[in-house]
Amino acid sequence: MPNAPLDQLLPRLIDPRKFAQQGLDLAGKFPVQELKRLSEVILESDADVSVELECYIDQERVRTVSGSAQCNVDVTCQRCLEPVTVPVEANIHLAVVWDEDAAKNLPKRFDPWIAEEGQNNLYEIIEEELLLNLPMVSYHEHECMEAKAFSAGEAVEAEEVANNPFQVLEQLKDSPK
Ligand SMILES: [Zn+2]
Repeated sequence: MPNAPLDQLLPRLIDPRKFAQQGLDLAGKFPVQELKRLSEVILESDADVSVELECYIDQERVRTVSGSAQCNVDVTCQRCLEPVTVPVEANIHLAVVWDEDAAKNLPKRFDPWIAEEGQNNLYEIIEEELLLNLPMVSYHEHECMEAKAFSAGEAVEAEEVANNPFQVLEQLKDSPK
């Protein structure tokens, strides 16, 4: 893509058919907070979503919006429950169509962008693609939990329980029915 200005704000509303017709490129960024559904499943963040897209009509006359969206999001590590930053990258290959029927008939390589005539919400379709690429569970790359689990106090406690299996039985016997 020739020198697309990546630092500018990506427009929220575009007419994707016009962009494809005219072979326009789109590049820019916007705050991830603009994406409400994504914001609900990540930790609060002031990160930006970076987007680069090419719009064109392909050999089969499909109005295409193709490129990538990228964002570093903070989520909860499922091992230590502390925040961890994970990169989310979506490869975007959309065909602009009018309705579900047209969407069903698309070649497999496309995802459908069911778009009304005129202006459509580009952020929503990018959010969809990012959500699809968000990992179900995330962990720190380092062994964040091992260091904690074997901290002195907890290790001793675990050992005591292991050495006194009958203590647990005693407690069960004494507990009122
Ligand atoms: Zn962790």
